[in-house]
Amino acid sequence: MAGASGVRLDVLRIPLIGRVLRHRNGRVVLQLPLVALALLLVYDGFTGQQNAAQNLATVGAWVHYRGLVVIALLMAGNLFCMGCPFTVPRSLGRRFARRTRRFPARLRNKWVAIGALIGLFFAYEWLNLWASPLLTAWVIVAYFAASLIFEMLFDESAFCKYVCPLGTFNFVYSTGAPLQITAKNPEVCKTCVGKECVNGSYSVETVIRVDEIGNGATRQVVHDRRGVLGCGTELFVPQIRTNLDCTLCLDCARACPHDNVALAARRPFRAWFDGGAWPKRWDMIVLVVILAAFGIVNAFGMTPPVYTLIGGIAGALGMTQDGVVTAMGEGAALLLIFAALGVVLPAAAVKAAAFASRKLAASKFNYSDRDVAAAFTPAFIPLGFAVWIAHYAFHFLTGALTVVPVFQGFLLDHGITALGEPNWSLSGITDLRVIGALQFAVIAGGMGLSLLVAERSSARLYKRRGMQGLIPFALVLLAMMLAALATFTLPMEMRGTVFFD
Ligand code: SF4
Ligand code: SF4
Repeated sequence: MAGASGVRLDVLRIPLIGRVLRHRNGRVVLQLPLVALALLLVYDGFTGQQNAAQNLATVGAWVHYRGLVVIALLMAGNLFCMGCPFTVPRSLGRRFARRTRRFPARLRNKWVAIGALIGLFFAYEWLNLWASPLLTAWVIVAYFAASLIFEMLFDESAFCKYVCPLGTFNFVYSTGAPLQITAKNPEVCKTCVGKECVNGSYSVETVIRVDEIGNGATRQVVHDRRGVLGCGTELFVPQIRTNLDCTLCLDCARACPHDNVALAARRPFRAWFDGGAWPKRWDMIVLVVILAAFGIVNAFGMTPPVYTLIGGIAGALGMTQDGVVTAMGEGAALLLIFAALGVVLPAAAVKAAAFASRKLAASKFNYSDRDVAAAFTPAFIPLGFAVWIAHYAFHFLTGALTVVPVFQGFLLDHGITALGEPNWSLSGITDLRVIGALQFAVIAGGMGLSLLVAERSSARLYKRRGMQGLIPFALVLLAMMLAALATFTLPMEMRGTVFFD
């Protein structure tokens, strides 16, 4: 049953957990262990054994982080951004910076983040980040530095909202999560004077105000140095309809003087069926679609045919030496593969599907390709997420226990024998038929959900001619699913485990 506020379950009201989360230092409680972990990974990456399967940096970042992140996104939401270690030096940056600049208006969209995502995928494959503890440590250091610099330069949390590839991935796939920030009572927001959830309650000088809160009642509101800044990604709580751009920092809940912010339980995947929740922007459309496509391309990068393809392209470009592909040749070939399969092909397919959908449905509405593509955008999230789950689950399940001997080895390297000798044969599920069946089930489930979302989107858009308008997008989704299934039937490198190294 929903309470008087209309919120069925508010995580911020759960005894102890809610209190910790709402506390002004609540986020730090989550962040400090993750900062310690990140520093440990950096330290081992720089100083430990340069063997991917025996180093905390590579096993932690490429096997466990990615596996745990998709589980958290599915079960709860954007917990990684909530405890993000990279925002701790950023918070220090806030103290010392004189930030007066807004992020450039032309860049206040997802194009930079799309570029950063593609750059990370490319670097991962070209530089074999998964195989290099040293480079993985440098990636973590670069992350800390970039978030600090952006925080010192700009007013809002520009790094989170417009740049961070990890956050961008989490934003998109947390839209299906069962928890979301919401206003308990939208009527209270209508009369709220300060809109502190977005404007903040921090003030150098103490300011005291008395707000009317309905039925003649009043409440004293205090802004002072103990207050918090408002939403860093500039979301306004009563208008939030998806988890897009929400880092779950909970500053809105801390700032709201009327205790009107809930971290509410909701039906999972609901936002995907809410047509009005999605911005009609090409950057958002491209982001969601290429993220789904890169799920397949990224998995394809771990299979034998990709090496044949790279060899063929590099040979055609004349970038081999004594029959061996040069490093630049591999980079050029990878760039071409990524651009063709990850960007151009899916973007063109969606543009063509939008055009064909309009024509087939012959709607009386004067929709543009962008209107149609935007309406179908959420349909690419379930299948895309399923492909990433299938990929990351493969690494996580085959290497889940590797962290035990790796940590034992780390301790031994530093003269600590308390946990004994490492058993390097510890890994995870080694029967690949089990993992294959799981991957098939996840992708089939994602496809089913994608079709359902697409069917509802089409019905909303074209009313009785919805089935006709659905066909082109159903075909694009089907092609993606078949490509994903074909990829996952290929032998995959068990990166990050002793079976690969
Ligand atoms: S959530 Fe709180 S601070 Fe924001 S508008 Fe509503 S009442 Fe005001
Ligand atoms: S302040 Fe903004 S980003 Fe943080 S939890 Fe609230 S809505 Fe999400």
